[in-house]
Amino acid sequence: MAWSIGCAYAENPASHAHWSYQGSTDPAHWADLDKANAACRLSQEQSPINIDVRAAKKAPLAALEFSYAAGTAEVINNGHTVQVNPAAGNTLKVGEDVGHLLQFHFHTPSEESVNGVRYPLVAHFVHKGFDGKLSVVALLFKEGRRNQALAPMFTALPTEGKLLALANMNPGELLPADHSYFKFMGSLTTPPCSDGVRWQVLKQTAEISKQQLSAFRKLYTMNARPIQPLNSRVVEVSD
Ligand SMILES: [Zn+2]
Repeated sequence: MAWSIGCAYAENPASHAHWSYQGSTDPAHWADLDKANAACRLSQEQSPINIDVRAAKKAPLAALEFSYAAGTAEVINNGHTVQVNPAAGNTLKVGEDVGHLLQFHFHTPSEESVNGVRYPLVAHFVHKGFDGKLSVVALLFKEGRRNQALAPMFTALPTEGKLLALANMNPGELLPADHSYFKFMGSLTTPPCSDGVRWQVLKQTAEISKQQLSAFRKLYTMNARPIQPLNSRVVEVSD
């Protein structure tokens, strides 16, 4: 995914109309901006959602088996978020499904909410499986201690259109120890809002300092899509 795409998830940049989080191209208008964005309005399984913890169905979910390792990475500011494109070779196995980590990026506040509460920040780790399906792991951040794993990028966050090259970054260092999670089907949270995305939201949160948050918010004060209806979906949780 090239840094110049200007869209966190763009598969086909040529078809993308300008969109934003506020103003006349905000989420309420995404479906009208481009025919390709029809799912933003019509799909019944859109993301993000609120996770009602008591309503989540306990299930023997497959473990999230992360094989992330240190390597080079590019940090890009694409006009919608700050996105990290690590070198190839990081994978996530969930049962029989294996996906390659394409990129991870951030939203403030968190797009997913838990019991109605949005966290200050979320990281979305986007994987693509051999079947072409996307599988996203969400890691919620609460305000607290300085996050050492984020420090190399959050001390030098690139401005829009700019790129920061990291010689050595291990996305695994961002992950908490406990990988139990909430699972549901959803969509991209940005146009074209394509559904069929497997979502896994980690129960354990990470911490980020007030200073680190404010560094991100200097670039993006708000880049979260509103909560979408759950409709008939069931959220499962590791038992
Ligand atoms: Zn995202």
